[in-house]
Amino acid sequence: MRSLQLGSIRIDKVGEIDTLWFDPAWLYPGIEPAMLRHASLRDARLVEPVSQRLALSFHSYLIRAPGWCMLVDTCNGNHKTRPPAMAWQHQLASDRYLTNLAALGLQPTDVDAVLCTHLHADHVGWNTRLADGRWVPTFANARYLFARREFEHWAALHVAGPPERAGHGAFADSVLPVLAAGQADLIDDDHAVLTHLHDRIWLAASPGHTPGHVSVHVAAGGGAAVLCGDVIHHPVGIHEPQLYSIGDADRALAERTRRRLLEHCAGSGALLLPAHFPSPTAARVHDVGGGRFCFAFDDALA
Ligand SMILES: [Zn+2]
Repeated sequence: MRSLQLGSIRIDKVGEIDTLWFDPAWLYPGIEPAMLRHASLRDARLVEPVSQRLALSFHSYLIRAPGWCMLVDTCNGNHKTRPPAMAWQHQLASDRYLTNLAALGLQPTDVDAVLCTHLHADHVGWNTRLADGRWVPTFANARYLFARREFEHWAALHVAGPPERAGHGAFADSVLPVLAAGQADLIDDDHAVLTHLHDRIWLAASPGHTPGHVSVHVAAGGGAAVLCGDVIHHPVGIHEPQLYSIGDADRALAERTRRRLLEHCAGSGALLLPAHFPSPTAARVHDVGGGRFCFAFDDALA
């Protein structure tokens, strides 16, 4: 597995589940067969040739700068009770995620910061782990950064109940214990995460999938990347940005945000690093005119 080095900043992928196949009509309720016929999607890593099922990965990104590191999103986590139909979230018991983190030279206690692009169950899972029957922060020395707007949205649902509404219990078991431990920082949507000489990491609001969704921008060493969380789930969303996903809370706003992201990546050359693109994951976006885009995988993290 390769690392992406931008100036003094290094980005790695930390995998939890490499490839899971999803029924396209479940993931994208408005999808039509023709939408899967784009040349770049004729790739068995992305679309299963016979069933046309779509591949998704579940992974975090680890961003390292001199003397500091941050995890972006924390996947599903272990031992979380979720609807059994969501088998990729329910009662996982795998050492894969922490083993992959260790392979990058880090123990959980080495992580300085954790940023969740949004508070869905598959982005907050490893925030906590079960210890003597209680949920405690997995990363004992980390500050956890939650966008205030996102946090308040889920806090209101949690208070209103039932708990299933607040991310099938994810807010209760993977966010509130971090607050209780005094490790949470509620931050603005445009929070500046890090500046090191000319190298910068900052957040930008990217609402629609959830109300307070944020993306992580990195600009360093003359290169750039956007860790866009769930603004785009699968590469079909680059070709068909009007397609809404099952999880998009505000479909129209999600589409506007998706188009803005694609325009940004195509115009600036920033590498797109989504939360669920299967390996090789990193994508270059190209504007083909008329509000349409295409992409090519980049082997930066392969
Ligand atoms: Zn997700």
